[in-house]
Amino acid sequence: MELNEALAKLAELQRKLYAYQAASSSLYLDGTTVAPKDTAEGRGVALGILAGERHKLFSAPEVGELLDFLWARKDELEHPVRRQVEELRRSYAQLTRIPADEYMEYAMLTNEASDVWHRAKEKSDFELFRPVLEKLVAFNIKFAGYYDSTKAPYDALLNEYERGVDMKYLDGFFATLRERIVPLIHAIGEKEQIDDSFLWRPYPVEAQRKFSDYLMEVLGLDRAHCTIGETEHPYTLEFNNKDVRITTNYDEGNVSFSMFSVIHEGGHAKYELGISDDLQYTCLAGGVSMGVHESQSRFYENLIGRSLPFIQAIFPKMREFFPEQLGGVTAEQFYRAVNKAQPSLIRTEADELTYCLHVMVRYEIEKQLIGGTLAVKDVPATWNRLYKEYLGVDVPDDKRGCLQDSHWSGGSFGYFPSYALGSAYGAQMLRNMEQDIDVWGPVSKGDLSQVSNWLREKVHQYGGLMEPADVVKNACGDFDPTVFADYLEKKYSELYGL
Ligand code: ZN
Repeated sequence: MELNEALAKLAELQRKLYAYQAASSSLYLDGTTVAPKDTAEGRGVALGILAGERHKLFSAPEVGELLDFLWARKDELEHPVRRQVEELRRSYAQLTRIPADEYMEYAMLTNEASDVWHRAKEKSDFELFRPVLEKLVAFNIKFAGYYDSTKAPYDALLNEYERGVDMKYLDGFFATLRERIVPLIHAIGEKEQIDDSFLWRPYPVEAQRKFSDYLMEVLGLDRAHCTIGETEHPYTLEFNNKDVRITTNYDEGNVSFSMFSVIHEGGHAKYELGISDDLQYTCLAGGVSMGVHESQSRFYENLIGRSLPFIQAIFPKMREFFPEQLGGVTAEQFYRAVNKAQPSLIRTEADELTYCLHVMVRYEIEKQLIGGTLAVKDVPATWNRLYKEYLGVDVPDDKRGCLQDSHWSGGSFGYFPSYALGSAYGAQMLRNMEQDIDVWGPVSKGDLSQVSNWLREKVHQYGGLMEPADVVKNACGDFDPTVFADYLEKKYSELYGL
């Protein structure tokens, strides 16, 4: 085989993988947005076949031979192509280590688990979910060995979401946060609470939709390349850097839920839209890791979206959308209300300060489950004990406790820490950005273009071209969790007059 011929085959393989992914994503998008209610079965058949075909295409022995051939001549390859071969070889080795029957069995199990979890959550009945969760944990321990048998199982799983991150790294990170955040929460508990009652007024969905359109505009999201839809749980779905979809969910009783979900998902969308053209239709064409992705969404949501200059910039327009609800409210009051810190039960509704403690509870439990020191049957009791210990709240039932998140039912163990890492990375990016450019002058005028340009240059454009740790280093310098802790301490001390 000639090198040119091999390179053409490599490009063709990646375009085909993209096509399978795009087809599956379209079905998913359809199913969660406009498809009629009782139509999941047919989509399930199609999705199963697409997944099987994709697996067959990628795990074929010819693919292994092609990748070996190219790797043997890696010194002749240009950097992006060499990186593609490296990444594909890693995925290929991993995929072919998992026996085909176990792979299929696991796919069926996660399908079933999602359904069982929904029912268990609805009834707040952990016992219903327990047998499935036991199987999921056992599978993940086994798969961790296929991923990397030289690592402890949980480290191997963490590595799948954030390459280079392990328990040692996270133990240090979380210990720093806990030491700094817990005393802050206690101090805030002694203070008078912020009045956020005006957030809890009826906000008509139609006006909220128009407000979302306005936010998309402020974020600089070109509607010719990014639409906004409505789903039960907000998400971002990317096809390529010219076609990204975000969704939100409107709560008529509170305007802030959809407001910040639009800004959050908008941050994910900015990342995908900012990835360089020459990486499209290759395996490097998406965000590099979950942690880096969350750093972008949380950057927009919290560091910008929950800042006083940003709120001051958008508030006059916001009052036009909601004249009755916000007529007597000032930008400053609104800023304080959306930053109210209060230990609570539900992770997705938590404020910026207490959020990481929710993640820590899940991290501790996963670590012990996958490490084999906690039995599945003891998850609810451990969950409740840790919520009391970290957040000081009593968990009334499993629905608002260990059954609240969908991640485990989807087979994701090791995903949660990415959320907290993303917040910490974002704080360091802001510090560096402030050294490079005037951040707050333009933001206070509603102009986010300089912020976007900085992030595009330092993070977005690279897609998967660099290792996650190198992207973080490029934008943050050396990772230092005290920067995030300092940011929180400063912000909340000012808010609560500590
Ligand atoms: Zn997110």
